[in-house]
Amino acid sequence: MSGKTPLQQQADRFDVIVVGAGPGGYVAAIRAAQHGLRVAVVERGELGGVCSNVGCIPTKAMLHGADVAHEIATAGALGFSVGEVSFDISGLVDHSRQVVDQLTTGIRGLLDANGVEIIVGNATVPQKGRVKVEVAKSFRELHSDHIILATGARPRSIPGVEPDGDRVWTSTEALRPTSLPESLLIIGSGAIGAEFASLYRDLGTSVTLVEALPGILPAEDAEVSAFVAGQFRARGIDVQKSVSVTSVVPDESGVTTTFTTSDGASRTVVTERVLVATGVAPNSEGLGLEALGARLNRGFVETDQWCRTGVAGLYAIGDLAGGPCLAHKASHEAVLCVDHIVGEARVSPLDRDFVPGCTYSRPQVASIGLTEAQARATGRELRVGKFNLAGNGKALALGSPEGFVKTIFDGATGELLGAHLVGPDVTEMVQGFGVAHSLHATAEDLAEVVFPHPTVSEAIHESVLDSLDRVIHWPPARK
Ligand code: FAD
Repeated sequence: MSGKTPLQQQADRFDVIVVGAGPGGYVAAIRAAQHGLRVAVVERGELGGVCSNVGCIPTKAMLHGADVAHEIATAGALGFSVGEVSFDISGLVDHSRQVVDQLTTGIRGLLDANGVEIIVGNATVPQKGRVKVEVAKSFRELHSDHIILATGARPRSIPGVEPDGDRVWTSTEALRPTSLPESLLIIGSGAIGAEFASLYRDLGTSVTLVEALPGILPAEDAEVSAFVAGQFRARGIDVQKSVSVTSVVPDESGVTTTFTTSDGASRTVVTERVLVATGVAPNSEGLGLEALGARLNRGFVETDQWCRTGVAGLYAIGDLAGGPCLAHKASHEAVLCVDHIVGEARVSPLDRDFVPGCTYSRPQVASIGLTEAQARATGRELRVGKFNLAGNGKALALGSPEGFVKTIFDGATGELLGAHLVGPDVTEMVQGFGVAHSLHATAEDLAEVVFPHPTVSEAIHESVLDSLDRVIHWPPARK
C-alpha cells in the first residue's frame, strides 16, 4: 500500500508524461497541453536538449561569425579597404551562448504558459505506465497511460578513439573553444563535420577533413558531395576520402592522427585538436526498455508509423527512434504522436524520405527526397533537371554563384522524387520542395509557379524547367 495521501497520488498522475525536453520532448509536452491534457516533462539536463544547447542553434550562431569573417575577407572586391582585423573567439562563443540562453529561457516560458509541469531529474520506466524520477538523491514516481520517450542521442566515437574533451573534441567542445586552434583534424564529414570544417576554416584554422566513405556529406547526392569537396579544397581544406583512421594519439602539444589513404598508403597528421564527428548513439540504455519488451535496433527504439513501441502506452520520438536525427523530424513526430494519442483526425504518418536535410557550411547544402542514385535504383524512368547558379542574377549579385539546384522527377508521372541544392541560402529554399511534395505537385505544376525576381529561388524554377527541356537562362549546348 502506498503511504501517499490521495492528493499526492493525484499530483503524480498525468495524462501524458514526456521524458526528455529536446525539440521532440518539449514540443510533445506543449502539443499535449494544447489538447487540454495534464502533462509532465522530465529533463535531467537542460531544457531544449541537444538542439538548443549544443547542436543546431549554437552551431548556427558560430557559423554566423564565420560568414562575417568571410565577408570581411572578401570586402576588397567591392571597393572596401579593411584595415587589420583582430578576432577573439571568446566573443563568438559568448554570442552563441547568449542565443542559447535566450532560446532556452523561451522554452521554459512556453512550457510554463501551457501549464506543463517541468520535473528535473533522471527518468527510468520500471514498468508500463510508471516513470521513476531520481530527483536530488530521492525518487518521485509518476503515473500515466501515455509515456513518450524523447531522450535523444549523444555524440558517438569510433573504436580506438576516445574524446577527452581537451585535445580530442566532440561537437560539444568544438562549440566552446577557449582559443582558436591553429590546426584541426575532423573525423567524419556528415553535416556536423562539414559545418565545423567550414566554420573553423573561415576563422583561419588549418583544417583536415577525413571521411571513411568515398564522398564527403555521404548522405547527399553524389554530385553535391563532389561539388562541395571541390569547394572545400578550393578554400584550403584538406579533404581526404575513403580513409581509415588507425590511431589518434593526444599528448601535451597536439594530436597525432594516423590513417590509411584510399591508395593504401599510411599518412600521419599532427594537429592542435581533433574533432570526432562520426554520428550519434541513442540514449536508450538504463531506461528499462528491454525489460518492458520494447524492440531496439543498434540501440535506437523501433516504432511504428504512430511512434508506438509495441509496449502499450509507450512511445518513442526523435533521435531515440532513429534517423534522420534532426530536430524538425523530432518535433514533427512529437505532434503526430500526441495527435494520434488523442485521436485527432487529420494526422498522417511521417514520410522519412521527405524530411529535409540542411548543412550550413559554405556553400550551404539542402536536400529532400531521393538522391539520383536512389531514384535510379527504383527502376523508374527519370527526368532530371539541373540549373547552375552561374546563370542566376541574384547569386551573381551576392558574389556567390557557386552552386546548383538539381531536381528529380518520375519521367512518366512528373512526381517529385528528390531535390538537391547547393549555394547561398539554399537551406531557406528547400522547403518549397517540401510544400510541393505535400501537395503532390508535379514538374508541370511547379513550372506554372511564378517565382520572384531576382531571387536565388529562381534556380528552383529553372531546374524544374530544365527537367522539362524548357530551361530559359542556360544555353542548351552548355548543359
Ligand atoms: P535531444 O535534443 O537529444 O533531447 C533529449 C533530451 O533528453 C536531453 O535534453 C537529455 O538531457 C534528456 N534525457 C535523456 N535521457 C534522459 C533521462 N533518462 N531522463 C531525463 N531526461 C533525459 N538538427 C537539425 O535539425 N538541424 C541542425 O542544424 C542540427 N545541427 C546539429 C549540430 C550539432 C553539433 C549536433 C550535435 C546536432 C545537430 N542537430 C541538428 C541534431 C539535433 O540536435 C537533434 O536531432 C535533436 O536535438 C533531437 O531532438 P530530440 O528531442 O530527439 O533529443
